[in-house]
Amino acid sequence: MGKASRDKRDIYYRKAKEEGWRARSAFKLLQIDEEFNIFDGVKRVVDLCAAPGSWSQVLSRKLYLPAKLAPDSKDGDLPLIVAIDLQPMAPIEGVIQVQGDITNARTIEVVIRHFDGCKADLVVCDGAPDVTGLHDMDEFVQSQLILAGLTVVTHVLREGGKFIAKIFRGKDISLLYCQLKLFFPTVTFAKPKSSRNSSIEAFAVCENYSPPEGFNPKDLHRLLEKVGSPSGVDDLDCSSAWLEGPNKVYIPFLACGDLSGYDSDRSYPLPKVADGTYQSLDPVQPPIAPPYKRALEMKKASSQGIRELEKLSLDS
Ligand code: SAM
Repeated sequence: MGKASRDKRDIYYRKAKEEGWRARSAFKLLQIDEEFNIFDGVKRVVDLCAAPGSWSQVLSRKLYLPAKLAPDSKDGDLPLIVAIDLQPMAPIEGVIQVQGDITNARTIEVVIRHFDGCKADLVVCDGAPDVTGLHDMDEFVQSQLILAGLTVVTHVLREGGKFIAKIFRGKDISLLYCQLKLFFPTVTFAKPKSSRNSSIEAFAVCENYSPPEGFNPKDLHRLLEKVGSPSGVDDLDCSSAWLEGPNKVYIPFLACGDLSGYDSDRSYPLPKVADGTYQSLDPVQPPIAPPYKRALEMKKASSQGIRELEKLSLDS
């Protein structure tokens, strides 16, 4: 698909380039904020699975830059934003980057070191595995990323803080809801206008972090497993989430973003220009080391090898 054709088919892709965002995902976080005011009073944030960096850009523009440009700004008082991804990411003002795996305990230690004994007010996680097309497999890997995000939360989020995480609306959604409810009294599943209806993606907006009394992060997985077991967890009003009928859990689900705004499933005409030729903008920041780069190099090397072998056999 050509760039101009994608510009026409995907209004948020085009708008992202016009507004200087590295990815259209920026609009998802902005629209979640419109509904839930997630940046209110936030000074420390962790951005999990951050590359290529459009959510980090939102955090920088919403939190870091206004504080830096304020007349009474002090260096030591500026918001702290730590972004983590497996992939390297081009720099963003006010964002500390950590290249690492969020499922690895060492990555959590690095984040804790950056916060220097303080806790975060907000953790966001837009993590997505490379989708295989096998729905059960994709949902499983996605749920593992959310649980890794929740592990980070239990180590770095302050009580009362918020956690925003990408989820897939699959068959285990009630179980995930109940697991998140163990730690957050308010959990809403939100669908920003910029996220296509055709996609099973949504976002869990978890507010007011309140871990169970005496909770030790080491016990997280044992506690989460209990939610899915027939005996359930005491005091959890949705421990029977997997049951049908009257025991079924109803999950708060909210569309967010200006509902009369752009529809991500529609095509929009390209803007008219004076000479009638539409010039598509280049991406704001192409990924600096995308995983497909190595695959392309290998493909190129192997077709070169085949050509050389063919040449040898013709010469002999
Ligand atoms: N929020 C980003 C933005 O706005 O630019 C987009 C995130 S992209 C949809 C998903 C990211 O998850 C990818 O960059 C991928 O490298 C990252 N990811 C997947 N598994 C990860 C893991 N175990 N640890 C760290 N990052 C991971």
